Amino acid sequence: MEILKYNTSDKTGWIEIICGCMYSGKTEELIRRLRRAQIAKQTVEIYKPRIDNRYSSTHIVSHSEQSFPSIVVDDAFEILQRAKNAHVVGIDEAQFFKMNLVDVCEELANGGKRVIVAGLDQDYKAKSFEPIPQLLSIAEYITKTLAICVVCGSPANRTQRIYDVKERVVIGSKDMYEARCRKCFVAPK
Ligand code: ADP
Ligand code: ZN
Repeated sequence: MEILKYNTSDKTGWIEIICGCMYSGKTEELIRRLRRAQIAKQTVEIYKPRIDNRYSSTHIVSHSEQSFPSIVVDDAFEILQRAKNAHVVGIDEAQFFKMNLVDVCEELANGGKRVIVAGLDQDYKAKSFEPIPQLLSIAEYITKTLAICVVCGSPANRTQRIYDVKERVVIGSKDMYEARCRKCFVAPK
């Protein structure tokens, strides 16, 4: 992969990860951090992968209906090409990017940018959802968000798929998934 070299800042950048199951508040937390940066007159850009067309293709939207304008890209490499003038780069639904997102985030941070990445850390089988595990190992800051188990009310770390569909990536109506704790989660066969 061709890596573009940045010289946009003499300050250091860094990587922040917000990860957890569905409904755990990743997008809300991402929007909260981006709004604060904007108030402080930082140039903020937010990217998301084309695969995720839920609710809006021009904004990221949380399940609590907060939203923030975003740019859709087909490949993480486009972020490097487009984000040259941003102080802060937000990336939502990071689990739908390929592994090159890791190099892209590294390059953005090396170029002096604050990079905030939100994404699912487990798939519907509760297996690690790359590239999030690889991003966790290179990030400066990690936030794990939890939802509330809809069955028992305990902290929920897993995403239960309600219907029997085999593909790893199924973007459907939001009532296709539930937040569950490890006791109430039923692993799909
Ligand atoms: P994520 O990006 O992690 O999927 P969002 O930030 O989009 O999460 O949405 C978080 C919001 O989802 C919560 O503030 C709440 O309004 C709603 N929500 C729906 N189901 C649950 C649940 N089981 N536990 C906690 N929040 C839930
Ligand atoms: Zn439970």
